[in-house]
Amino acid sequence: MPRIIPVLGDQLSPTLSALTHADPARDIVVMAEVHDEATYVGHHKKKIAFLFAAMRAFADDLRARGWTVEYTRLDDPENTQSITGEVLRAITRNTAHGIIVTQANEWRLAEQINGWSARFGLPTDIHEDDRFLATHAVFATWAEGRKQLRMEYFYRDMRRKTGLLMQGDQPEGGKWNYDAENRKPASGGLLMPQPLFFDPTPEAQSVLTLVADRFADHFGDLEPFRFATTRAQALQALDHFVEHALPHFGDYQDAMLDGEPYLYHSLLSPYLNAGLLAPLEICRAVETAYYAGHAPLNAAEGYIRQIIGWREYVRGIYWLKMPDYVDQNFFGATRDLPDFYWTGDTKMACMADAIGQTKRHAYAHHIQRLMVTGNFAMLAGVDPRAVHEWYLAVYADAYEWVELPNTLGMSQFGDGGVLASKPYASSGNYINKMSNYCKGCAYDVKVKTGPDACPFNPLYWDFLLRNGEQLAGNPRLGNVFRTWARMKPETQDAYRATAARVLDQLEDL
Ligand code: FAD
Ligand code: SF4
Repeated sequence: MPRIIPVLGDQLSPTLSALTHADPARDIVVMAEVHDEATYVGHHKKKIAFLFAAMRAFADDLRARGWTVEYTRLDDPENTQSITGEVLRAITRNTAHGIIVTQANEWRLAEQINGWSARFGLPTDIHEDDRFLATHAVFATWAEGRKQLRMEYFYRDMRRKTGLLMQGDQPEGGKWNYDAENRKPASGGLLMPQPLFFDPTPEAQSVLTLVADRFADHFGDLEPFRFATTRAQALQALDHFVEHALPHFGDYQDAMLDGEPYLYHSLLSPYLNAGLLAPLEICRAVETAYYAGHAPLNAAEGYIRQIIGWREYVRGIYWLKMPDYVDQNFFGATRDLPDFYWTGDTKMACMADAIGQTKRHAYAHHIQRLMVTGNFAMLAGVDPRAVHEWYLAVYADAYEWVELPNTLGMSQFGDGGVLASKPYASSGNYINKMSNYCKGCAYDVKVKTGPDACPFNPLYWDFLLRNGEQLAGNPRLGNVFRTWARMKPETQDAYRATAARVLDQLEDL
C-alpha cells in the first residue's frame, strides 16, 4: 500500500524534504488546485495564475523524474476545493497507509496538517522545511533571552553558517553590512535593465483561461502574463538578473521612479517563495558574480542580506510570535483601508504609481511597499489587519509567513517594536528625496499645511502626536518630538487642522 505525499503550492522544489523521505516506486504525490486557497483572501489574478501554472509544470517535472503524481485541477467536478478534502480523497482512492508531508510555512495550513493524523487515523510524517537555513528551533534559541531581536545579529550568524562572503571568520571587505552605500536616488536617464519575462507556456495559457473565468472579480490585471512558471525559466531569470541588474542593485535599492516598477530589483521573490528557486543557489550565484568581479561588494552583500538575513529573520519572527501576532495592533488603529488601494485612483502621484503597478504586475519593490503604501496606511491610522490582508492579496510573492511580519511589524509597527526599532514613518520629504514622483504630483511636497500640502506632511505629525503616549519612550524619536515642541503654536495648529481635513477627505485625496 502506498503513502501519499501532499505537495502544497509553495513547495515546488524537487529536493523538498517530503520527497527525499519518500519512495517514487510506491508512494504517490498528490497536488490540487483548490478554491479555498485561492480565495481565503482575494488574491491577485496573476498570483493565482502563476501558482496554478507553476504547480502543473512541477507535476509534469516530477512525472518525468519517475514519480506518480495525482493532480486535481480546479474545474475537476470531483474537486472538494480544500486541501484536507483532497488529501482525504487521495487516501481513499489509493487505500493509503500513511502521509509524508513537508511542514507548511503558513500557520493556518500547518494547523490543518497537524490535525491529519487524528482525523484520518493514519501515521503522518511531517518533515522540517529544509529549504530554509534556520529551523524554528534555531531561531527560537537565537531569540531566547535577547531584549531586542535585531536582524543584523541574526544575519551575521547566517553568514557564518553559510560561509557566504566570508574570509575565515571575518566578513568579506571587513564590514558585515554595506547598506550605507545603497541609498542613491535614481535619475530618469539611467539605463534600466528589465527582468527577463516569458510568453505563457501552453499550460499557463490554459490556466489563464480558467482564472479569467473563475476569478474575474479578483483584484488586478491577468494579462499580459509574463512570469516564469517552470524551474528552467526561473533559473534563466536568475542568470539574467545577475548578469544585468545585480551590479547596480545596491546603489539604487531604495530608489523609486515613476513608470519604472523594477529598476535594479530582481523580481525573483515569486519564484523563490514558491520553491522554483532555492535561497542558497541564488546567493551562491550572487557571490560568484562578486568574486568574478562582475558585481561590487555593496551589491552582492546587500542582495545576500535580503535573502539569508531579512527573509529568514521575518520567517523566524512569524513562527516565534504566531498565532497572536496577526491580531496585534499597537496603536489601536481602526480606519478602513481607503478605496484607492484597490483602484489606484488618487491624485497622490506616488500612491497612484505604486498601486497602479501593483494592479498591473502584482509587484512593487520594497521601498514602494514600505515607504509609500505602507507608510501612508500607518500615518492615516488604518487598521493593520486590513493592511495585512491587502498585502497578502495583491502581491505575487505574498504568503503570510513573509508578508505578515513585513506588513504588521515592519511597515505598520503593529507589534510595538518587535521587528523595527522605530516606526517607518516619514513625511513627503523622504519620497521626494528617493524618487521623481513629486514633480508630477497634484500636491506640493514643499508645502506643509493647507489644501496644496502633500498629505504625507501633516499626517506625519498627526500620526506622531496621536500616538505620542505609545512612542514617548522610544529613544530614536526624542529629537522628532523635540522638533515639534519647538514649533510655533500657530504652525502646530495649522498641521493639526490640515491633518484633520485630510483624514476627513481621505477617499478624495
Ligand atoms: P529584491 O529587491 O530583488 O530583493 C531580493 C530578495 O530578497 C527578494 O526576492 C526577497 O526574497 C528577499 N527580500 C528582500 N527584502 C525582504 C524582506 N523584507 N522580507 C523577506 N524577504 C525579503 N516579500 C515577500 O517575499 N513576500 C511578501 O508578501 C512581502 N510582503 C511585504 C510587505 C511589506 C509591507 C513590505 C515592506 C515588504 C514585503 N516583502 C515581501 C519584502 C520585499 O518587499 C519583497 O521581498 C521584494 O520587494 C520582492 O521583490 P524582488 O524579488 O524584486 O526583491
Ligand atoms: Fe507623494 Fe506627496 Fe510627493 Fe505627491 S507630493 S508624490 S503625495 S510624496
